[in-house]
Amino acid sequence: MGDVKGFLKIKRTGPKRRPVSDRIHDWKEIYKPMKEETLKQQGARCMDCGVPFCQGWSGCPVQNMIPDWNDLVFRGRWKDALKALHSTNNFPEFTGRLCPAPCESACVLGIIDEPVAIRVTEWNIIDRGFNEGWVAPIPPARETGKKIAVIGSGPAGLAAAQQLRRNGHSVTVFEKDNRIGGLLRYGIPDFKMEKRVLERRLKQMRAEGVEFKTNIHVGADLTVETLKKDFDAICLATGAMQARDLSVPGRELQGIHFAMDFLTQQNKRNAGDAIDPLIEISAKDKRVVILGGGDTGADCLGTSHRQGAREVRQIELLPEPPLKRSTNTPWPLWPMQLRTSSAHEEGGIREWSFMTKKFSGKNGQLQKLHGVRVEKIINVSGGVKFIEVPDSNFEIECDLVLLAMGFTGPQKAGLLTDLGVNTDSRGNVTVDENRMTNVKGVFAAGDIKLGASLIVWAIYEGREAAKGIEAYLKKC
Ligand SMILES: Cc1cc2nc3c(=O)[nH]c(=O)nc-3n(C[C@H](O)[C@H](O)[C@H](O)COP(=O)(O)OP(=O)(O)OC[C@H]3O[C@@H](n4cnc5c(N)ncnc54)[C@H](O)[C@@H]3O)c2cc1C
Ligand code: SF4
Repeated sequence: MGDVKGFLKIKRTGPKRRPVSDRIHDWKEIYKPMKEETLKQQGARCMDCGVPFCQGWSGCPVQNMIPDWNDLVFRGRWKDALKALHSTNNFPEFTGRLCPAPCESACVLGIIDEPVAIRVTEWNIIDRGFNEGWVAPIPPARETGKKIAVIGSGPAGLAAAQQLRRNGHSVTVFEKDNRIGGLLRYGIPDFKMEKRVLERRLKQMRAEGVEFKTNIHVGADLTVETLKKDFDAICLATGAMQARDLSVPGRELQGIHFAMDFLTQQNKRNAGDAIDPLIEISAKDKRVVILGGGDTGADCLGTSHRQGAREVRQIELLPEPPLKRSTNTPWPLWPMQLRTSSAHEEGGIREWSFMTKKFSGKNGQLQKLHGVRVEKIINVSGGVKFIEVPDSNFEIECDLVLLAMGFTGPQKAGLLTDLGVNTDSRGNVTVDENRMTNVKGVFAAGDIKLGASLIVWAIYEGREAAKGIEAYLKKC
C-alpha cells in the first residue's frame, strides 16, 4: 500500500467528458484522457482495507485484484498492474469503459467518503498496455488436437474462446451477424466504446489462433448434428436478445421499433454499411419517445440526439429512484438510486411512473402515444402492481417510438430446441456446476444462462465455461 493516509488527503476525481456542444456532433468516445499523476494519486486513495469488498462477491464479478493494481499504479509500475489485471479479466478495455462498477459501490471508503475511482484506473492500465505494445498475443505452447465450437461472439463467447485457445485447443467462434462482437459490436454505441477497441483485441485473438466465422446462423445455416459430429465440445454464448414487446392498440403503426434494431443500424452505418432505405430507422428531425428508463434507453437517447432528433423523451413505468443509495440496498450492495448517464447530460426529458395505454396515428403512421400516470403498489406477499392515478391521462405527439423495455431471455427456436437443452422458468439455459447443460458436451455462458446482464458477468461466465470444458475434455 502506497500512501497510508492517501484517502484522507486526496479527493476522488474521474475523467472529464468532452463538452456536450462538441461531442453531440460526432460518434467518438466522450471521455478525455487523464494525466498520469492524477491517476497515481487516485491509486493512493485505496486504503488496502482488511477485507477488500470491492474484489469480493458483492463487488467485482471477475474478482479483479483491485487493491494490488491500485498500489502498482501509485508506484508507477504499470506493466505489473497490467499483468495483475489480465490474470482475472480477459478484456479490461471493455469493462474499464462500460462496467457500472459494482466494485465502487462495495468500496469500503464509500462508507465515509466517495469510493476509490476503480473503473478509470482499470481503463488506463489496459489502454497504456495497448499503447506501449505490452498486449502481445499469447499463443499456446502445444496443441491438444481437441476442437471446440463457440456459438456467439459477445464477451462471454470471446472470453471462453481466448481461455480455451490459450490452453491449446482448436477454437472456432460462429457468429450469425456480419461482424464479431455481439452487443459490444451492435448494441453499445460508439460514443461509449469506439469499435477500434474491439478490433485491437480481436487482432490479438486471431494471432493466438482463434478462428472466427461470421454470417453463420447455427441451427439454420449449420445444423447441430454437424456441429456435434465435428467438435469435441460446444459452448453456447448466444445471449438473451428476445426483446420485450408492448401489446397495446396501435402497436402495428409505422414508426414503432425495437431499440436494438435502431442501435444496430447506427452501429452499422458508423462501420460504413449501407442501410436499406425500406427498413431504415432515423430520429432526424423527429419527436422521439423511448419506452424504458434503463441503459438501453439511454443509449437510444444519445443516438437520437446525434442523429438530429427534434425532441426526445425517455419514459419509465417505475417511479423515479432516490437520488442517494436507498436504505433497502445498504453498503456493500449494488445501490438502488437514480442513475444519470452521459446521454442524459446531452438533453431530453425523463418521465417516471408513466404507463403507455395505446398508440394512434393516421394512414398507418404513428402520431400520438396515449398514457396514464401510475402508482406502484407492493402487496404483503411482495408482488408489484401499478394502479392508475385518476384523471391523469395524457398524450404525447411523436413520430418515432423506440421500445427499450428489456429482454425476455434467449431465443429458443432453432439452436436451443434442436439441441434439446433445458431452460428454467425465466427461459434461461440451465447448467450444472461446470457450466454443462443437460446435453453432454454442450456448455453455456453469459446472458443465455443469466438473462440480460452485464459485460463483466459475461466475461466471468465465459472463463468459468472454459474451465468446465477443460475438465470435461480431460475426462473424454
Ligand atoms: C443496448 C445495450 C447496451 C448495453 N450496455 C452495457 C454497458 O454499458 N455495460 C455493461 O456491462 N453491459 C451492457 N449491456 C449488457 C451487455 O452488453 C450484455 O450483458 C453482454 O453483451 C452479454 O454477452 P453475451 O456474450 O452473453 O451475449 P451477446 O453480447 O448478446 O452476444 C451474443 C451473440 O450471439 C450471436 N448469436 C445468437 N444466436 C446465434 C446463432 N444461433 N448462431 C450464431 N450466432 C448467434 C448474436 O448475434 C450475438 O452476436 C448492454 C446491453 C444492451 C442491449
Ligand atoms: S470489471 Fe467492473 S466491477 Fe470489476 S473492477 Fe472493473 S469496473 Fe469494477
